[in-house]
Amino acid sequence: KLYNEVQELKGNIRVYCRIRPFLVGETRKSSIVGSIGENGELVVLNPSKQVKDGEKKFKFNKVYGPSATQGEVFLDIQPLVRSVLDGYNVCIFAYGQTGSGKTYTMSGPDSPTEEVWGVNYRALNDLFHISQSRRNSILYEGVFLVFLLVSFILWNLLNCNVLTLGILSSSQPNGLAVPNAIMHPVNSTSDVLELMNIGQTNRAVSATALNTSSSRSHCVVTVHIRGSDLKTRSTLCGSLHLVDLAGSERVDRSEVMGDRLKEAQHINKSLSALGDVIFSLSQKNAHVPYRNSKLTQVLQSSLGGHAKTLMFVQINPDANSYLESLSALKFAERVS
Ligand code: ADP
Ligand code: MG
Repeated sequence: KLYNEVQELKGNIRVYCRIRPFLVGETRKSSIVGSIGENGELVVLNPSKQVKDGEKKFKFNKVYGPSATQGEVFLDIQPLVRSVLDGYNVCIFAYGQTGSGKTYTMSGPDSPTEEVWGVNYRALNDLFHISQSRRNSILYEGVFLVFLLVSFILWNLLNCNVLTLGILSSSQPNGLAVPNAIMHPVNSTSDVLELMNIGQTNRAVSATALNTSSSRSHCVVTVHIRGSDLKTRSTLCGSLHLVDLAGSERVDRSEVMGDRLKEAQHINKSLSALGDVIFSLSQKNAHVPYRNSKLTQVLQSSLGGHAKTLMFVQINPDANSYLESLSALKFAERVS
């Protein structure tokens, strides 16, 4: 409820900043994080200047410090995730340089235990639980979930290839085709999780096959929802896109050549096109430049209009990453 009210005021864009902790084994350098306020304020310190001199202030809808848990983060976005069951199209992005925690937020670490599951495991699990409990409740009269379809898309930017793995609940979909999708019936939560793991593995394998690293490709997990509203006897559709974006770091032109250079240019182009789209949505502009990249074209129906967008801007606190962090924060501030 509150979420919708805030959305009315701010356009349909929210930005959450998440700062990852220093990792075990990482030589602990000085942190660029000055302070984190309760209302989404973030003060960043320029490591090469005197503290007061180099302070930069940012304001987001929320800022998570290094100790924020996966569970805490999900609890905040759960209402947004569940709004797909009311027929909304929802897009959740993770933006930031390689190593800043995008994959951790969206999926978790490699082979995650339940405690460190990322957004995609938790979202699927949550939606699946709701669908099961509605299915099992004789008294339930609201929106009845017909099926969930999940696809993994690994985006090789150079070839604009799309590889898909589909996951399907027990009932058959009507008129929803995903090319190259492998369909699996899903009857339990453990089925859902097993298939999520296949998707993650598939992502890594595909990246290798396409001769790229997963940090140089966008990974999109899409959940399509079809439901029937038992009261109004109407069909309802919603979708959830969970997007682990390619690393936002600038690639030094002198260091890459040929295909790698093209790849880097593709990444820059698609990320800035995404920024432009989200920016014009936040400004409520009449013209939204969806057509400037493949990424924004594919996500068009889930950005703007009836859609809700959330971007995580991920930050590595290390002083060595200061300039990259600053540019990610500026990107995020522009769209928020
Ligand atoms: P990216 O996807 O942006 O390249 P990763 O998600 O792979 O970054 O994160 C880099 C490393 O930091 C990984 O080892 C990851 O497990 C770890 N990490 C990231 N965020 C956190 C966090 N909030 N808590 C603990 N470890 C984290
Ligand atoms: Mg990653």
